[in-house]
Amino acid sequence: MKRTRVLVTGGAGFLGSHLCDRLLLEGNDVICLDNLFTGSKDNIRHLLDNPYFEFIRHDITQPVYVECDQIYNLACPASPVQYQKDPIYTAKTSVYGALNTLGLAKRTGSKILQASTSEVYGDPQCNPQPETYRGCVSTTGPRACYDEGKRAAETLFFDYHRQHKADIKVVRIFNTYGPRMDTADGRVVSNFIVQALRGEDITVYGDGSQTRSFCYVDDLIDALVKMMNSRDGFTGPVNIGNPGEFSIRQLAEMVLSMTGAKSGIIYKQLPADDPVQRKPDITLAQKELGWKPSVKLENGLKKTIEYFKGVL
Ligand code: NAD
Ligand code: UDP
Repeated sequence: MKRTRVLVTGGAGFLGSHLCDRLLLEGNDVICLDNLFTGSKDNIRHLLDNPYFEFIRHDITQPVYVECDQIYNLACPASPVQYQKDPIYTAKTSVYGALNTLGLAKRTGSKILQASTSEVYGDPQCNPQPETYRGCVSTTGPRACYDEGKRAAETLFFDYHRQHKADIKVVRIFNTYGPRMDTADGRVVSNFIVQALRGEDITVYGDGSQTRSFCYVDDLIDALVKMMNSRDGFTGPVNIGNPGEFSIRQLAEMVLSMTGAKSGIIYKQLPADDPVQRKPDITLAQKELGWKPSVKLENGLKKTIEYFKGVL
């Protein structure tokens, strides 16, 4: 049997490592490319002895020459804390990363999936957000390196599709959480769980009334694979996320009650341009991919808390 050769950029990160697991389980030959900027070898250590798994330490801002049939382009820091550490590099990763992976797709004839983001909607003026919403994004604020980088990447994907007939698939991922998030990642779910398990106060930014919709990693990975295998000509962009909407204060209270922590909640300044609301309209994903998330926040949090108990 000829195995499909799949390149996963950002494969040693949170989502990328789960995707590598899933692709290997399905009998693919997986090439994981990562520069370990936010990812870790610990996320893929269990795969290093698998003959159908290869790790390449490489920076996607530089061209890459491998032979493959499919590409999942996930390389990019995703947490505001991480992507704002070196914003120019974040923009380069998105834009040069898109150019380099699209160039590779063009040469090899690979199908290519881009991990875009709900951040392309910025601080949205409508709720939930359908794919047709064009967004409300600051071009100059501290989140712009990521938001505008991802928007430019989407543009490049669609231009390669129109100009070179590249076989593209674009997904807009909404907040996703689960095991293997880095303890120092800075995103809200990992921060709250780590703080609660360490008996530290939970840091809510602003008054905690801003909302997010949280998707468990297993649901997300199902959707990525379904999108890669979706019908010819379906390019997306398609929203992938869990439409359950929670305020950040609600999340803090859930984590406190589920961990049994005695921590208090402290309120800190809301970061600039922090979106007030976010909730995916997943009608298109349901129709085209036959996908909807199945893991409730409470159940996903339970698994994530168990994971962090094991690594702290
Ligand atoms: P992550 O930070 O855990 O993973 C990103 C991976 O990319 C890391 O392993 C990192 O080392 C690698 N990387 C970063 N810059 C690189 C470069 N220049 N060259 C090679 N590798 C590089 O984050 P994640 O949550 O797993 O996100 C994966 C992808 O999904 C990202 O593109 C992100 O924008 C997108 N996404 C994630 C979410 C989410 O909630 N998790 C939401 C929207 C979009
Ligand atoms: N947040 C918070 N406390 C934290 C980390 C984040 O209150 O310790 C808030 C943040 O201001 C935002 C939401 O939680 O409103 C989600 O933040 P995250 O960094 O996870 O992702 P975002 O959706 O903002 O990209």
